Amino acid sequence: MGYLSADLLRGRETGTKGARLAAQYLVQRFRELGLAPGLDSTWTQPFDVTYSPNPHAPSGHGTPRTGRNVVAHLDRGAGRTVVIGAHYDGLGYGGPGSRSPGDSLIHNGADDNASGVAALLEMAHQLKNSDALSSNVLFVAFSGEELGLYGSKHFVDAMPMPPDQVRYMINLDMVGRLGDSRRLVVSGTGTSPAWAPALDAAAEATNITLAEDPSGLGASDHTSFYLDDIPAVHLFTGAHDHYHTPGDDSHRIDYDGLHDVATFAVRLVEALGDDGDLPFTETDNEPQGRRTSFDVTLGVMPDYTFDGTGMRIDAVTEDDGPAARAGLRAGDVVVRVGDVTVDDIYAYMDALGELAPGDATTVVVKRGDQTLKAEVQF
Ligand SMILES: [Zn+2]
Repeated sequence: MGYLSADLLRGRETGTKGARLAAQYLVQRFRELGLAPGLDSTWTQPFDVTYSPNPHAPSGHGTPRTGRNVVAHLDRGAGRTVVIGAHYDGLGYGGPGSRSPGDSLIHNGADDNASGVAALLEMAHQLKNSDALSSNVLFVAFSGEELGLYGSKHFVDAMPMPPDQVRYMINLDMVGRLGDSRRLVVSGTGTSPAWAPALDAAAEATNITLAEDPSGLGASDHTSFYLDDIPAVHLFTGAHDHYHTPGDDSHRIDYDGLHDVATFAVRLVEALGDDGDLPFTETDNEPQGRRTSFDVTLGVMPDYTFDGTGMRIDAVTEDDGPAARAGLRAGDVVVRVGDVTVDDIYAYMDALGELAPGDATTVVVKRGDQTLKAEVQF
């Protein structure tokens, strides 16, 4: 926690020197824990990021960059593998993802997500010394998450084994604020019927209270696995005022709670046992009667955790998609599509469902305290 969220690493933004230092550190720690390089005898997996530029962001944005996942293997010679992941990239000096965009201070990202990486390392330590699991385990520290899940998407696309040999994925993103409530949010519980009993057993063993969300779609790396039909959950100790601000610092971490979340996740792995595949189930990501397939896409990742009015764009995922071409950016909140008022993500989906390829319409977004109109061509 201390090293990853120190000012030295300058917020670990993807493709920067700070991110490289973090990756080197993680390789060293995985080595010390006695793990093997995860991919054909290499520790890191490079991938290209072509991120939509924000003209108001500090220099360095908008140029092509290379992200690097760090992958370690606990190789037990088994036919099946479990993936445990946490993103180590951060917002650097803020940029479009910051909730305090005015000041360009280092965003150390202690809870988001040095905490998840610390829990990942602790899990590696505990599982290395446990004989309760005979599956192989890949421990993956992802980069590119804050820019739009780039690292996990690349990992899934270039997976070193066929997807049906991956039993399940556990994502640790923001797990440093357990606190006295001992409440842990688990998203993705509907992606397999095997999760519920195993989660209950782990919760009981660690005196943790669960808040469960069945949806496999969320604004973090488990989504990349869910979209590849792999059961996946996200562990999360909840939102707070310092999220995506320069105030997300290491002195605010609940260290005992962080250790307990890692132990909870190890108990979860043990409770899931060794017997083969977990059945995958698609989740109802929308309430009954809502549309779930679309003829058009805006080319963005919605922020599923946003609880304000409208649909907040978490990331622009297609460089040449309709949103990018219309100049929309991460952080923009869509409040109107054509004639339809967009109060929430479901209204947004309904509006999108009425459109066909070739249509053009006006999209109204809030950007900070500005209201902007964009002509979007689908
Ligand atoms: Zn995060």
